[in-house]
Amino acid sequence: MSVLILAEHDGRQLKQATRQAVGAAQAWGAPVDLLLLGSDTATVAADAATVAGVARVLRVDAPHLAHPLAEDVANVIANLARDYKVVLAAHTAFAKSALPRAAALLDVAMVADAVAITAPNTYVRPMYAGNVHATVQNDEPIQLLTVRATAFAAAGSGGAATVTTLAAPAPSELARWVDESRSVSDRPELASARVVISGGRSLGERFEAVLGPLAQQLGGALGATRAAVDAGFAPNDIQVGQTGTVVAPELYIAAGVSGAAQHLAGMKDSKVIVAINLDPDAAIFQVADYGLVADLFEAVPQLTAALKN
Ligand SMILES: Cc1cc2nc3c(=O)[nH]c(=O)nc-3n(C[C@H](O)[C@H](O)[C@H](O)COP(=O)(O)OP(=O)(O)OC[C@H]3O[C@@H](n4cnc5c(N)ncnc54)[C@H](O)[C@@H]3O)c2cc1C
Repeated sequence: MSVLILAEHDGRQLKQATRQAVGAAQAWGAPVDLLLLGSDTATVAADAATVAGVARVLRVDAPHLAHPLAEDVANVIANLARDYKVVLAAHTAFAKSALPRAAALLDVAMVADAVAITAPNTYVRPMYAGNVHATVQNDEPIQLLTVRATAFAAAGSGGAATVTTLAAPAPSELARWVDESRSVSDRPELASARVVISGGRSLGERFEAVLGPLAQQLGGALGATRAAVDAGFAPNDIQVGQTGTVVAPELYIAAGVSGAAQHLAGMKDSKVIVAINLDPDAAIFQVADYGLVADLFEAVPQLTAALKN
């Protein structure tokens, strides 16, 4: 019984979330294979081969996989899955679009966003914005699931997996990659940053100007509430919460964030939570380790200046 993990990478290195998925896969105590799709993946395959706990890296390399589409990824998974008992991936946008399609092709049910694996077919997963944790059992012959990466320890390095190149199926041609626009930042990636500084809609047009210097000072990533994103004060890809990215950094600073359940669902597992809010009754203070009732437009620049000194 072995486990297949759908890997995510940036063309050079595996994403931290994939290392956490490898950590989750240790629950089965079975050999773990990494499925690596892309074009020109030699460098990332070499990186993947060093991940501790990985037996084989299965490399599927083709020009049409340079920008992998969910339809093509699902085809590759479905072709391989019958040789595995478990197929898993981190619960990212990439896996969330590919794995359900693979499950449909295999005609099996899948489990999404598991935060714990309590038996080879039994998982704990959050519901209702994390207010309820359900334990579910999946009796399908192939276990297909995504895991919440931050709930699992990342696999380290030091492995020596074999790298096997497999032929890619022909493109599905159901969908076609046309273009993409990415926000480029020298800040750490939100999902795996050790420090996250999040702001709410109260920051208005000064979102970046007020929070950016603090993020720079702490080497952290910026996060935002959905209200701040919807109002156009922060980009969509930094939304933290139920319908955004789930984070669990060592330090989470929430400035002008009310603490709605949908926001808490994305950050309440952070190790240390600091909240700055004008309203002493704001819900965010219920999960905060340190709370400051203050105007963020004064407190954040003061904190940034103090850190500089
Ligand atoms: C299906 C669904 C999914 C959702 N998903 C998400 C999600 O993924 N992420 C998310 O964040 N939300 C999500 N929401 C929205 C969520 O319910 C809240 O509306 C949102 O989180 C509120 O954002 P906010 O705290 O910026 O704004 P508000 O609720 O307006 O709060 C602003 C806060 O700023 C404080 N404040 C104002 N001025 C200052 C100042 N000068 N100094 C200090 N504090 C100040 C106020 O006291 C207040 O607490 C979702 C909602 C639904 C229905």
